[in-house]
Amino acid sequence: MKIRLHTDRCIGSGMCAAIAPTVFDQDPDTMLVLPRDLSPSAEKWAAAAAAADCCPVSAIELLE
Ligand code: SF4
Repeated sequence: MKIRLHTDRCIGSGMCAAIAPTVFDQDPDTMLVLPRDLSPSAEKWAAAAAAADCCPVSAIELLE
C-alpha cells in the first residue's frame, strides 16, 4: 500500500494532516502537505484513504 503525493496541487487546506496525522504532516511555514509515511500499514490505510477523499484538489493518490 503506497501513496503518491502531488504536492504541486496542494493548497494547504490541512485536511489530510487532520484526518491522518500519522501519514501526513503540514509545513508550518507554507502550510503545504509533507509526507510522514507514504507506505502506511493496513491500520493506517483507512485514515489515509479518507484523507485522499477529502483533499479538495485530489493531491493524494492511493496506489494499492
Ligand atoms: S488535504 Fe490536499 S490540499 Fe489539503 S493539505 Fe492535504 S494534500 Fe494539501
